[in-house]
Amino acid sequence: MGPLMNNNLIGYRCVACGISQPAEPPPMLCPACGGALDAEYDYDRIAAQLTPAGLTGDTERSLWRYRALLPVAGTPANRSLQVGGTPLVALPVLAGKFDLSALYIKDETRQPSGSLKDRATEVALQHSAEYGQATVVAASTGNAAASLATLAAHHGRRAVILVPAGTAAGKLVPIMQCGAILCPVDGTYDDAFELVETIARELGWYSRNSGSNPVLSEGKKTVALEIAEQLQWEAPDKVFVPVGDGCIIGGVYKGFYDLLQLGWTHKLPQLVAVQAAGSAAVVRALEAGGEIEAVQADTIADGIRVNLPRDGQKALRAVRATDGFGITVTDDEILEAQHALAKGTGIFAEPSAAAAYAGFKKALSQRLISPGESVVLLITGSGLKDLPSAGRLVEQPEPVAANLGAFREFYERFTAGESA
Ligand SMILES: [Zn+2]
Repeated sequence: MGPLMNNNLIGYRCVACGISQPAEPPPMLCPACGGALDAEYDYDRIAAQLTPAGLTGDTERSLWRYRALLPVAGTPANRSLQVGGTPLVALPVLAGKFDLSALYIKDETRQPSGSLKDRATEVALQHSAEYGQATVVAASTGNAAASLATLAAHHGRRAVILVPAGTAAGKLVPIMQCGAILCPVDGTYDDAFELVETIARELGWYSRNSGSNPVLSEGKKTVALEIAEQLQWEAPDKVFVPVGDGCIIGGVYKGFYDLLQLGWTHKLPQLVAVQAAGSAAVVRALEAGGEIEAVQADTIADGIRVNLPRDGQKALRAVRATDGFGITVTDDEILEAQHALAKGTGIFAEPSAAAAYAGFKKALSQRLISPGESVVLLITGSGLKDLPSAGRLVEQPEPVAANLGAFREFYERFTAGESA
């Protein structure tokens, strides 16, 4: 018996050359040109199964409430470690200060492994299970690895993670704690990435490498579906998205695109690609009006530090098709934004996620946001995984003697500059 299919899924279409592929067997890249693929759905059929009113009555809080819009047939038996359903945090005071109608943070730090990547992993694990692929393999040193290790543990699945030798122990310990098989590779991240592609092909394992598997953007698109639902099916005017390999902004576009096809929203938000100045392949291509060219990436924001964005085609389309724009921010601006965001909202973002806030502030200063607009900042991951970089802007105080006088002196010194 073949695998179950989601009958709403028509097939896949190449983003670059437009050639269609059937849904079975699930393709990775376009066989004609090597381009990235989009999942295509029968929207009339979906509309007959799922309505905004029907969703209102659905008690499922995870991303599986949108299962009719995903390229899988079923849902995992155990959904108690909830993926998705993250808060859209309103910031009315800041919105007023910046003359906006509304300002929100989509807080993806609350995902099970602390990043938006859980959306892609959760759907990819279900997809691989439906095709009888028990083992899932990925190359990652960061959020994708933590996500795969966490959710594979939850679903009782085998995860194999390849990392470049010499990766910091702090990033590896959580992966090993979750029981994933960790294989350091003598070589670079790109060597590990290519080895994963070979392993997946030769051993029949499922690849969770982004940029080659269209199911990953389908998982990530659920963040856009949630934002729209949380805004009562109104698309915001602008969404600021941190961009590294381009998979997230590609997914955000696809989510809003699907909703527009269904007629549940009435416009696409302008998507703003925020990149670190030292890792700006996508923004350079946007500004030059051309295609992606590799850069030598250098930034403190390791989640968006990418030489050649593997999902660059989808990233460019996301910005161009929504009349959005790209913007770059320096490492200093990212670190300042990380601190300002934590201090102003209580949300402790990793540097690559804080880049969204830094890009928003820069766009305001350059008058790229009009008065009265509604804006969503996509805060993609938690700062808890990378404390050393966050520690650069906050100074750890020296100890004081254990008596009240010493404490009073300390406290007065500490607060002396506050009202100045
Ligand atoms: Zn193609």
